[in-house]
Amino acid sequence: MSVQTMTVADFHAALKSQGVQDRADLALICPCCGTVQSARDLISAGAGLDFEAVEKYLGFSCVGRWTGAGSPRATPDGQPCNWTLGGLFRLHKLEVVTEDGQRHPRFEVATPDQAQAHAAANAVKVGAA
Ligand SMILES: [Zn+2]
Repeated sequence: MSVQTMTVADFHAALKSQGVQDRADLALICPCCGTVQSARDLISAGAGLDFEAVEKYLGFSCVGRWTGAGSPRATPDGQPCNWTLGGLFRLHKLEVVTEDGQRHPRFEVATPDQAQAHAAANAVKVGAA
């Protein structure tokens, strides 16, 4: 499996291009379960109270870790898993390279369509609550 690399600037540009209103809706995709997830998901799952508190998990640990999700599954079923890039096994598809040349595994950045659809779905959830 090939690993894509991006500079920090490219990574931020890709997130910015999603065009969501709120940075809490910036979306990434877990390489293990394939679900789209944003800071808003992490906050509602109880990973932290606000964007600053969950930023360190975003694109690194699957939201399923806070929702009691099952282990990573061989076949994505639309549900989050308990994957984290900090673990022993590595199956990430993206590495962000910082200026010092260090490579940091990250979840893949969702497309603008995926991010906006996800933000809209979350807005509906909030509205219904
Ligand atoms: Zn996952």
